[in-house]
Amino acid sequence: MEGIVFQYHISCTFSETVPPTLQPQDQDNFAPSSKPFQLIWESGFGVLVTFGACKWKLSGVKESVGIHGALYLISSFFASSSIIIPFLFSVMALIGMAALGRRCKRLFRLRGSAPAFVITNLFFIWCSYVIVIRQAVSSLLDIVFNVELIMLQIGLYRILSGDPGFVKLLNVDDESPLLLQRVRHCKHCDAYVKGFDHHCPAFGNCIGQNNHLLFMILLTGFITAEACYIMGASQILSESKQKKGGWNETLVSSTMIFSILQVLWQGVFLAWHIYCVCFNIRTDEFIHWKRYPEFQHIVELQPGETITTTKFINPYDKGILQNLKEFIDARG
Ligand SMILES: [Zn+2]
Repeated sequence: MEGIVFQYHISCTFSETVPPTLQPQDQDNFAPSSKPFQLIWESGFGVLVTFGACKWKLSGVKESVGIHGALYLISSFFASSSIIIPFLFSVMALIGMAALGRRCKRLFRLRGSAPAFVITNLFFIWCSYVIVIRQAVSSLLDIVFNVELIMLQIGLYRILSGDPGFVKLLNVDDESPLLLQRVRHCKHCDAYVKGFDHHCPAFGNCIGQNNHLLFMILLTGFITAEACYIMGASQILSESKQKKGGWNETLVSSTMIFSILQVLWQGVFLAWHIYCVCFNIRTDEFIHWKRYPEFQHIVELQPGETITTTKFINPYDKGILQNLKEFIDARG
């Protein structure tokens, strides 16, 4: 019985009260992969991550492991502090690692794989959820989180392997009329893409007319899954505040800090894309509008002026509702 009670303490994530006896159905609830569906889906996820790590090289995986390791050490060091202090140190550590990582890559001519990095991050969040958090959250949150992860895997596969709207250029003279059809060049892929927004290193593909909506859905999916994780993690941490310092609490704390940071930048990024869709402008067009003649409006010289000025105009903006309709209808 002592063994069972001890196991319950470890796996049920710090419940304040231990029941005097453990019923068989309780033991089922605390086993990570007790249900057949969960066993299949969790094994499948493990295989997918391994496949992803092999396909997109291991450097992205190493970066992800390095970042999660560093955040874990910071959370462990500040275990008795409020979450704000490890959060601030984690931000500083990530900025330092990003700067150092860029220099190291240049120095040693390394090329990390961003898709492998994204998949490994997702795997870390999922592991932390399965090992510690799942037992404490409601069935509804558990279903939402798992469905989100399944949808994210399907979406990731589609965006990694799909055609964003590549256009074959028969000869260089074709370029000018194509520009007016909003076909732009991606220097990373050396390809022309219809409705080109940007090249997304995280998904290893251009974002164009065919996959822009999918990209925004995936971004929303990541934010939702991470928000579910943060909700479960904060519940765990508030229930276990008297027992700070355990490895599982540290894991939850460091992964929660990582998830909060992810939600913050992804939220800003999603807001930017909603703005772009509402006003019918692409990120590439917004940044490089001086390359494209249709966005340039030459202001007539006023008396006393000698230099003409060029202002930005957007000829594609037809009002929010029409812009939204055009965006949805334009998908390939
Ligand atoms: Zn590209």
